[in-house]
Amino acid sequence: MQPVKAINHIGIAVASIDEQRPFYEEIGAVFENIEDVPQQKVRVGFFKIGDVRLELLEPTDPTSTVAAFLEKRGPGLHHVAYTVDDLPARIAELKDAGVRMIDETPRTGAHHMQIAFLHPKSSHGVLTELCQPPE
Ligand code: ZN
Repeated sequence: MQPVKAINHIGIAVASIDEQRPFYEEIGAVFENIEDVPQQKVRVGFFKIGDVRLELLEPTDPTSTVAAFLEKRGPGLHHVAYTVDDLPARIAELKDAGVRMIDETPRTGAHHMQIAFLHPKSSHGVLTELCQPPE
């Protein structure tokens, strides 16, 4: 299997991006922008630290999976995303290795990346995302 290339971003579930923004700016993360992702019923605040982004996920609807996460576990680390080449090939390799995928085909995420989530039961409790940046 091809190794992952880098940590692309770290997803953090928050009740309010606006309330947490001063903390992340205080530690030196550079605020980029906020994107609405209606399909996931979240708004996402992006902060850059070196080559890695933080993705603050704020639910916009009680039926959002992030709202369920906050209810069950409270705010905190939500997922880790790795950069890969050739996402369809990586998904096929993982499935061949018996890994359960939430996304069996790539979908478009923020920043025009192709993304796919592994099922947390197949990734030892850490929700794991693979990202293929645009060319
Ligand atoms: Zn993500």
